[in-house]
Amino acid sequence: MTRRPRRTATKFLTYFQLLDAFKEPGCPVCSLLMRGAQKALDSLMYEQVNDPITRERLVESHGFCNWHAWLLPRIANSASGVGVIYRHLLQVALDALEAARRHVGTVQPEDGGWGRWLASRGEPSPLLVWRQKRTPCFLCTLSRQSEHDTLRAMLDYIGEAEFAEACGRSAGLCLPHLELAADLGRQHPNLRALLDIHVTQWRDLHWELGEFGRKADYRYVDEAKGREGMSWSRALELFAGQQGLFGPDRRRRGNAGSAEAEEVAPEQSEAVAQESQDSAESIETRRFENARLKRRVAELETQCEADRKVHIALEFRIHKLAADLKAMAAGVDGVGVAETPPQVPAVVGGTADHRPHPGGDNNQ
Ligand SMILES: [Zn+2]
Ligand SMILES: [Zn+2]
Repeated sequence: MTRRPRRTATKFLTYFQLLDAFKEPGCPVCSLLMRGAQKALDSLMYEQVNDPITRERLVESHGFCNWHAWLLPRIANSASGVGVIYRHLLQVALDALEAARRHVGTVQPEDGGWGRWLASRGEPSPLLVWRQKRTPCFLCTLSRQSEHDTLRAMLDYIGEAEFAEACGRSAGLCLPHLELAADLGRQHPNLRALLDIHVTQWRDLHWELGEFGRKADYRYVDEAKGREGMSWSRALELFAGQQGLFGPDRRRRGNAGSAEAEEVAPEQSEAVAQESQDSAESIETRRFENARLKRRVAELETQCEADRKVHIALEFRIHKLAADLKAMAAGVDGVGVAETPPQVPAVVGGTADHRPHPGGDNNQ
């Protein structure tokens, strides 16, 4: 049985926004969020740069997140507003940095390694304390709310034939958004219909990827290219969502359950890190020393080989020089022998030496 959607003003608007987004390439929810983010930044840059509440929120979150920060250059005439806001933020950051520097300065050099070791185990740097108090980017918080509302509206409307048909013709939700819809709509009667549409869409894309691969083969390379030509790009977006929206996984750890729980809280990560720090440090130190020794051995082997080649080359030169010297000595001896006039063989039986006599007096 299909639940009748509650068409509040916002949901009514979302309905039409989704119908429009279905006509665009890529995940419709990603598109709406991207548009919403640009609109929010545009309005903030236009009228809230000097708003004390906005400024306070940005101080608490240490500016915008990576995604929203790098959307700013796309906002027309945003440079001066960015300069004003970030100058203020930099002043706050500078205070934390100065405090961190003073904190490090309390460890005297004569304390040596133990002093530094105790300091590293003691109070955390003011820079870390300040960073750990950072609140989430407030535009991300708004975006997340909008994301949930849009996905709930989609679940509500997908039971309607016209809406479902338009959704079926679209690229469908990206995997992160389908995952969130499945989470939000666990008990929703239309979840099955939403998943059915995506089964069809993913099967089509799977077939297109096969065609794309087949036509890359030299035997079929002359066949006309179709929609499958960009299937690889659509597959990327299907898995990752629109560029910039979900960010990298560098700060996520393991299988932490739902996407919302994946980011480890700073305090939790600190406690876990503290527990395993000793053994991890010891293992890491041994690995480091091992790697360093291996590297040194490799360098010495290379040096040894180079020295061996130089040695062989020198030996060769010595032998050559010795041979040259020997030849020269033999030459010198040869010259000594040559200076003695050759013995003129005696004329025997009328045979005469035809060499001219010195002085050119030849009787013949
Ligand atoms: Zn998406
Ligand atoms: Zn953000």
